[in-house]
Amino acid sequence: MDKLVSVVIPAYNEEENILVVIDHIEDVFEKLNYDYELIIVDDGCADRTLDLVREAAQKDSRVFYIELSRNFGHQPALKAGLDSARGDCVISLDADLQHPPRLLVEMLEKWEQGYDVVYTRRQEDKNLPFKKRKTSRLFYKLMNSLSDVELEPGTADFRLMDRSVINVFKDFKENDLFVRGMVKWLGFKQYALDYIPNARFAGSSKYNIKRMRKLAMQGVTSLSVKPLHMAVYLGFLISGLSLLYLPYAIYAYFHTHVSGWASLIVTIAFFGGLQLIILGILGIYIGKMFMQSKNRPTYIIRSTNIK
Ligand code: UDP
Ligand code: MG
Repeated sequence: MDKLVSVVIPAYNEEENILVVIDHIEDVFEKLNYDYELIIVDDGCADRTLDLVREAAQKDSRVFYIELSRNFGHQPALKAGLDSARGDCVISLDADLQHPPRLLVEMLEKWEQGYDVVYTRRQEDKNLPFKKRKTSRLFYKLMNSLSDVELEPGTADFRLMDRSVINVFKDFKENDLFVRGMVKWLGFKQYALDYIPNARFAGSSKYNIKRMRKLAMQGVTSLSVKPLHMAVYLGFLISGLSLLYLPYAIYAYFHTHVSGWASLIVTIAFFGGLQLIILGILGIYIGKMFMQSKNRPTYIIRSTNIK
């Protein structure tokens, strides 16, 4: 019997892309000796994406859909797909053809050679808008300096994972998801494939600056508590620096009557701000503990044709 490969595609308002992606993937598998299933996760789409996938599923028994109850976001949608996949390995990719399906061939080859995770690295390319390249680079810089897991630039959620990895990943109960960081953290035998991304086939990116900022925040705070440590170091640094001010304060005490208003106001404002920042960092982590303690599901499935 041929091995079963699951392909998971999270989709949010991708009515112009989804059928093309399905087509391309089916083309790729035509030349390969694998059974496969396509799982499209409808992340609360407001357009016809789900209808189109349902129709495709009626024509082809290898096409499946998972309809989430609302828009949960890319990462939870991806988790929903990975959890329901039944393959011996699972490949995830975006619905907009930026992740070229032809790469699946090479991914599967590496998998057959014994790698547990085959992830991809997007090479910088003119096809990407300038802003995207810039923000993406900043994203990975930030991620690496503020957290403990080393992430390579351009490693999006386009990867193959072996069943053994998926089984471990399924048990992750954290609802603040940053899949690429978590997979890196898992270890196993990983292989990196470089590729040049295509331009988005149709529609526009669902990640605006706000969503990207959120993902970066999530990445940092779900991978490590390094920001908390940094708050402590910052505290030491600033109190060390303020000691340098001491001699001047003593001098001023003996030589002036009323002055130093400016320096006073500046210091008060500075420390006020610093304390708020540190309180904010604490708050983020406490908030995460609060959310997690509620133990809510990461996503909710409204309907699916997966048995
Ligand atoms: N996506 C999703 N839910 C969201 C936002 C995006 O499932 O809330 C999907 C989207 O349909 C696409 C993938 O996540 O398949 C990546 O999104 P996009 O292409 O907009 O991001 P970019 O490539 O610009 O980083
Ligand atoms: Mg995209």
